[in-house]
Amino acid sequence: ATPASLAAKDCTSITPPYPHLLETLGEVRNVLGKDRKLTLAEKILYAHLRNPEESLAGGGQVRGERYLKLRPDRVAMQDASAQMALLQFMTCGLSECAVPASIHCDHLIQAETGAAEDLPRSIENNKEVFDFLESAGKKYGIEFWKPGSGIIHQIVLENYAAPGLLMLGTDSHTPNAGGLGMLAIGVGGADAVDALTDTPWELKAPLITGIKLTGQLNGWATPKDLILHLAGKLTVRGGTGRILEYFGPGVEAQSCTGLATIANMGAEVGATTSTFPYSANMREYLQATGRAPVAAAADQAAKAGFLAADEGAEFDELIEINLSELEPQLNGPFTPDLATPLSKFGSFIAENKFPNNLSAAAIGSCTNSSYEDMSRVASIAEQAKAAGLKSKVPFLVTPGSEMIRATIERDGLQGSLESVGATVLANACGPCIGQWKRDDHQGEDNAILTSFNRNFKARNDGNLKTMNFLASPEIVTAMAFSGDLNFNPMTDSIDTPNGPFKFQPPSGDRLPPRGYTGGDLSFAPTPSPKPIAETEIAISPSSTRLEILEPFGTAFANGPAELPELTCLLRVRGKCTTDHISAAGAWLKYKGHLSNISENTLMTAVNDEGGKINVARDAEGEDTIPHVMQRYKKRGEPWMLVVDDNYGEGSAREHAALQPRFYGCGLILARSFARIHETNLKKQGILPLWLSDKADYSKISAGDKVQTEGLKELLEGESDAQIRLKVTKPSGEVLYVPTTHTMSVDQLKWLRAGSALNYIGEQARA
Ligand code: SF4
Repeated sequence: ATPASLAAKDCTSITPPYPHLLETLGEVRNVLGKDRKLTLAEKILYAHLRNPEESLAGGGQVRGERYLKLRPDRVAMQDASAQMALLQFMTCGLSECAVPASIHCDHLIQAETGAAEDLPRSIENNKEVFDFLESAGKKYGIEFWKPGSGIIHQIVLENYAAPGLLMLGTDSHTPNAGGLGMLAIGVGGADAVDALTDTPWELKAPLITGIKLTGQLNGWATPKDLILHLAGKLTVRGGTGRILEYFGPGVEAQSCTGLATIANMGAEVGATTSTFPYSANMREYLQATGRAPVAAAADQAAKAGFLAADEGAEFDELIEINLSELEPQLNGPFTPDLATPLSKFGSFIAENKFPNNLSAAAIGSCTNSSYEDMSRVASIAEQAKAAGLKSKVPFLVTPGSEMIRATIERDGLQGSLESVGATVLANACGPCIGQWKRDDHQGEDNAILTSFNRNFKARNDGNLKTMNFLASPEIVTAMAFSGDLNFNPMTDSIDTPNGPFKFQPPSGDRLPPRGYTGGDLSFAPTPSPKPIAETEIAISPSSTRLEILEPFGTAFANGPAELPELTCLLRVRGKCTTDHISAAGAWLKYKGHLSNISENTLMTAVNDEGGKINVARDAEGEDTIPHVMQRYKKRGEPWMLVVDDNYGEGSAREHAALQPRFYGCGLILARSFARIHETNLKKQGILPLWLSDKADYSKISAGDKVQTEGLKELLEGESDAQIRLKVTKPSGEVLYVPTTHTMSVDQLKWLRAGSALNYIGEQARA
């Protein structure tokens, strides 16, 4: 039976403009030819083209080739990244946003003792940031979700996501909303500003990986295990430049929130986003969350053929997964693609001499805190309670939203978890993003299990030695009762005074049988607020956390030219994620203050010359990387970096591009880039170049002088001009390094202006 619905919402601003999208799709079919079969992801993307004739002219190969100029429907921003997005939006001088947008206060809430104390303390500690965001929301008409309302992706799923929609979010797990059959893409603040200013948002048409799901999940296997398994198969690079489009009989049976978990963690394989065809479970979820009119409109759009791939559509790659064969997985430590099936985890731990003991367990977050997840873990907790067991380790629960929290509290699920020792944290990111005031195990080797999505070093508690494994909430919960990483809840027993106890597979409800309850509605915004122009933006000139943004200068004020001579500051070795380039944790508090946050730049990067972390050298001697960068800035000496494969993987954090630019970086030469980060570099006016031959990586060393050749021609409009680098060694020896690039004509305009924002400002003033 369909569960009761949450109070009906006003769906005017959240119903996708289906008639318009279908009309645009009609134009697209005229351009591409009526016989061309389109995947779902293509339909959604192309239906959002500003001008199909221009983007698709001549038909032919689009995926992986063409740059699409798109008009997203909506923007969502979290409190950490919204600061810089809004500071950037302010520099453009517009009075309101061009599309509906929302701000979510979630990343700045620190977990320590539990929601009751953590939330007011975090609000107090971050008051000036929340005040700034609220004032910007008022001034520009953006919905402001107060601290305590929940995590951005959960709130988006509950309130704004809709089949066929195209949304940008300033957070790398924005694809979570793909669980409702839309395209939700994680971007930097500068891309969000494109959508907010009605500037064409440009995306190189991604390749599409089709993932056919057959069979049926059973027992302990969950949607989380599907994506953990897939991460192991594809690796953190396997989705780069691709959309993961799921289809097949296995999709229909998954709950909408389970699909969201899968889409959420598509970010872990570097995918642009993930999506699924519209299903009955999506309709039910829309209805249960007060959005029946959206479901009715989606039903019509589906009948018109919009919300699923055309029969016979081809994918660039096809993967088939039989859900019936899927075993629970544990991924990690330190990377989400190191997947180990549960049955082999004990031997994996032993072979690697990892600790046997679990030191903490955490469930929830934006990835896994649905009602279905919580009801299934509560079924495990109830079994444990009946056997007289309590969690052996600190057991943290992060509800994804106030709606989830209030519903699981009303239905007794929270009580079940608390009765076995769980601490319920605020509805916020907390330990998932280093906002965990963890006093024990600092500096020690220890192992934690979480149902979160990401597990780079130090991600959770700031301790580089904490081995963080990812698993389903069910596995995390069951293992918390054993405290032993060798424990397999599917086969092993736990000793109790009444004899050995063995868990039965978890069970739960897809949606709350009594319907959702909204909980404390004072956290929620006024829907579709009007901009109030006279609102004063709350930034104190003495603030250490917020700083008005000054535009970057341009090296091309006098027209097309080569970059000024650059000095190689550093050659970065190996994995270098956006966490390495701009660390999170304690630094989150400086997100809105570029001068202060820049002091963390690349501080966990490995210098390939010597192999040390956070060490660089210039004429003044050896120092930390940010200190050497500051010296370059002070001397007014522009510089460049040489970096390894998949540079900037991990998140949409634009600070990872802003900070090097702030210190005077003009060029980054990589073996390869992660997509979002490469775009962020372009937005901030840094030229990203790819080594034509990856073996040339070690040819450029710190202190070498580097000169571009061919950039001037490219800026002058010679689209096939190649850029090579002339490298002059301190000895006077000269060598040449050929490169390739992915700069489009519009991106070259950003470079010329000094940044995309400078260019938008120029256009607005023109
Ligand atoms: Fe927050 Fe973690 Fe989700 Fe990011 S991944 S939005 S930090 S809960």
